[in-house]
Amino acid sequence: MRIGQGFDVHAFGAGDHIVLGGVRIPHEQGVLAHSDGDVVIHALCDAIFGALALGDIGTHFPPTDERWRNADSRQFLRHAALLMAQRGFALGNADITVICEAPKVGPHAQAMREHLAADLECDIGRISIKATTTERLGFAGRREGIAAQACVLLERA
Ligand code: MG
Repeated sequence: MRIGQGFDVHAFGAGDHIVLGGVRIPHEQGVLAHSDGDVVIHALCDAIFGALALGDIGTHFPPTDERWRNADSRQFLRHAALLMAQRGFALGNADITVICEAPKVGPHAQAMREHLAADLECDIGRISIKATTTERLGFAGRREGIAAQACVLLERA
């Protein structure tokens, strides 16, 4: 078995929606990002890359590369899934926590799980999405940005 963890942050900026777990969520702000700024998928990819000791998401998808401008982050996750399979591993489970004051994540958690399970080609029961605030403390508490952390367990396929 292998374990990995990932963490990602994006600052809020001008816009009217954010993307979390591949779900477009209406919001009073967008996020500043080269790609679509999906912190859930970025943290999850980093956890998978970490478990495989394959560097980080910036290694695989450099933010300087114009190919990834406004990119749908789900393609990053499908690439991580491919590398995982090529190395003989399958996802045991993934546990993800979104950290923000807003928007509310709960109403979208099931749709996010469905996207992640589809991209990782695994049972939805292996994917957990949770959310928390920071009790108005720090950058997340001041609504300056949004963060996510992810833990994964990989098993020999
Ligand atoms: Mg990111």
